[in-house]
Amino acid sequence: MMKYHRIPVGPFATNCILVKDAETNEGLIVDPGGDGDTIADRIRTLGIKPVGILLTHGHMDHCMETSRLSHEFDVPITMHSADLPLYQNLGKQMEALMGPSAAAAFSPDALVEPTGFLDEGDTVVFGKSRAEVMHLPGHSPGGIGFLFRQDPDVLMCGDTIFRDGVGRTDLWGGNWETLLKSIREKVFTLDDDTVLVSGHGAETTVGREKRHFPY
Ligand SMILES: [Zn+2]
Ligand SMILES: [Zn+2]
Repeated sequence: MMKYHRIPVGPFATNCILVKDAETNEGLIVDPGGDGDTIADRIRTLGIKPVGILLTHGHMDHCMETSRLSHEFDVPITMHSADLPLYQNLGKQMEALMGPSAAAAFSPDALVEPTGFLDEGDTVVFGKSRAEVMHLPGHSPGGIGFLFRQDPDVLMCGDTIFRDGVGRTDLWGGNWETLLKSIREKVFTLDDDTVLVSGHGAETTVGREKRHFPY
């Protein structure tokens, strides 16, 4: 059984999610996209012993504090290999999305490379808990979700789907048809009461988004 804490961080209010195994306090840091001090403080306050950093995808607003927290807590970074080129070009992403001065302030020398790669069907174990990995391409090629089987199930789905919306597909490697396929054939096959924790905004459920899905 895991407990999670959602912290909106950075200029795009990205949901960084701290996950904790209720029995051992071992945990995961999902999408540390900004406000590294806040995330680090919260990890300590909650008594979480991080064992890894997981990235739902390689967009800068989900990765900006990854290297710093990897150093600070001495934990590895894990993502899908198809988004590695995005991760390795965080500086270029910043320049495109936030302008040259923001990019200049970011030092790519400090980038810690991911050492683990996840794909559909893989399992991430921490303490007595585990997450099942779903490959959810469309918003980016290497988008993945983390499914926790408990009551109710919880899917951390990155920017694939939101409460009342779906991820944009106009960024690097995005594809609208692929995104719809990930949503219809994967996310919407989960139980209706599955909680969706998206990359931005409030939680929702599979059932709610299915009922209102306009596409
Ligand atoms: Zn994104
Ligand atoms: Zn995002």
